[in-house]
Amino acid sequence: MKLRTIEISGFKSFADNTKIEFKDGITGIVGPNGSGKSNIIEAIRWVMGETSAKSLRGGKMPDVIFSGTEKRKPLSRASVTIIFDNSDHFLDSKFDEVMISRRLFRNGESQYELNRQECRLKDILNLFIDTGLGRESFSVISQGRVESIFNSKPEDRRAIIEEAAGVLEYKQDKKRAENELEKTSGYLERVNDLIIELE
Ligand code: ATP
Repeated sequence: MKLRTIEISGFKSFADNTKIEFKDGITGIVGPNGSGKSNIIEAIRWVMGETSAKSLRGGKMPDVIFSGTEKRKPLSRASVTIIFDNSDHFLDSKFDEVMISRRLFRNGESQYELNRQECRLKDILNLFIDTGLGRESFSVISQGRVESIFNSKPEDRRAIIEEAAGVLEYKQDKKRAENELEKTSGYLERVNDLIIELE
């Protein structure tokens, strides 16, 4: 699985439609301070389902929409699309190419698409769960994050290792099963009470 393309439009400093293609090997993005390098990384995190405006260096989510310059009016919509080469089916999708799009309007209306089909945020998050990718993952490390990982509490650091090891999904399954068990025990107790009453 490889990241092939990202297309950014109206997101942060990218007012114009900008398409970046990633070839095989390592891609480095260079540019002067403030030219938008971090904004590209944030666009990747955003389209993969980031919901914290703070972690995208904003106060609220519409702050990611191009806010205008002296010469250019603000825009009313941000949109980002990424395409993964999924020919090895690393992502749990039947498609050899997985395309994810996210759009946000100033009125707060937001849309997600998976291979051009409208979907929920949950569908995007599920696609990446335990792949080592996704909004909570450590495949994208932003400035200052390394220090925060080193300085985090042992239990938070454990969660990081668990996510990297791919056990998060099983922990969620275990929690669901425990809830079901608890519910079933409650029903059993009620049945026992009824039996006693009838005897
Ligand atoms: P550095 O090398 O200093 O880390 P960088 O190349 O990573 O810089 P970014 O931090 O990605 O640069 O970009 C910062 C620029 O993006 C700033 O000029 C800021 O004004 C602009 N910017 C951020 N949000 C918006 C927005 N909503 N609308 C317009 N411009 C924005």
